Amino acid sequence: MGILVVGTVAFDSVKTPEGEASDAIGGSATYFSAAASFYAPVDVIAVVGNDFPLDALDFLRERQVDISGLEIREGKTFRWAGEYAANMNDRRTTDTQLNVLSGFRPVLADRHREHDHVFLANLDPDVQHEVLSQSGRPGIVACDTMDFWIDGKREALQSMLNRVDVLIINDGEARQLVDDHNLVRAAGRILDLGPRAVVVKRGEHGATLCTEGRWFALPAYPVSNVIDPTGAGDAFAGGFMGYLARSGDTGVDALKRAMVHGSVMASFNVEDFSVRRLASLTADEISDRHDRFLEMITP
Ligand code: AMP
Repeated sequence: MGILVVGTVAFDSVKTPEGEASDAIGGSATYFSAAASFYAPVDVIAVVGNDFPLDALDFLRERQVDISGLEIREGKTFRWAGEYAANMNDRRTTDTQLNVLSGFRPVLADRHREHDHVFLANLDPDVQHEVLSQSGRPGIVACDTMDFWIDGKREALQSMLNRVDVLIINDGEARQLVDDHNLVRAAGRILDLGPRAVVVKRGEHGATLCTEGRWFALPAYPVSNVIDPTGAGDAFAGGFMGYLARSGDTGVDALKRAMVHGSVMASFNVEDFSVRRLASLTADEISDRHDRFLEMITP
């Protein structure tokens, strides 16, 4: 079973305590598909400007990611810049330039409508709505968002949640989305908005799966060489959705196992800037780390 992802392909400029990268390849759809491609066929819908070096995505093509849905528009590619605090968990966005992303209205082809798994990566909530209106009846829809859209388009975002099964979001954004500093209450309020499950990512502190009346918490896989956390959330989502697509199961136990795969993919992503680590990753490394992680979390 394949996955449709709609999100950003971007130039990122990132500063972390370990160094910096300027105009590096990033974007929510890029990180997501790099991770998910280890599990299932991925079909990408996104937009870039004519300044984007398309060969930077060759590693995705080599993994059978279908990027023919990448629209190339006259103009500049979406750009984002961010800076991480010494703890590598707190991040400040220093610049967001929407460029060709403003006015982006994706048109789904017939093959896009056939996917049973849809991931609405971090993107304008109006565009996320539009994709859902055009898609068929996917078995499972998950989505992500960011402070930028919570600030600017909260209502569109909240109403979109009524149309998705799983929201994957970080702890600060979960609090911001429903204006509640208590994470337990915030997760409950998000569930009230419609999704069947909320995955709250807490960086180096792990991730929690919240469903009606049931919680499941995982630590993060311990990584001693954290270089750049950018894209960890999207890589998590890639492992999570990838596993669900590969297993064909969407029950709560499958969501728990998907959390383990998401954590493993996120742990690789933070080991280098941009998509470098995901680009060099092998299936054997993933399965080794997955086994080690299971050993760590199983009493
Ligand atoms: P993450 O670290 O998982 O939250 O994802 C970071 C990625 O999201 C970066 O590669 C950015 O290019 C992308 N990004 C940053 N801001 C936005 C935004 N407002 N909308 C969509 N994508 C964004």
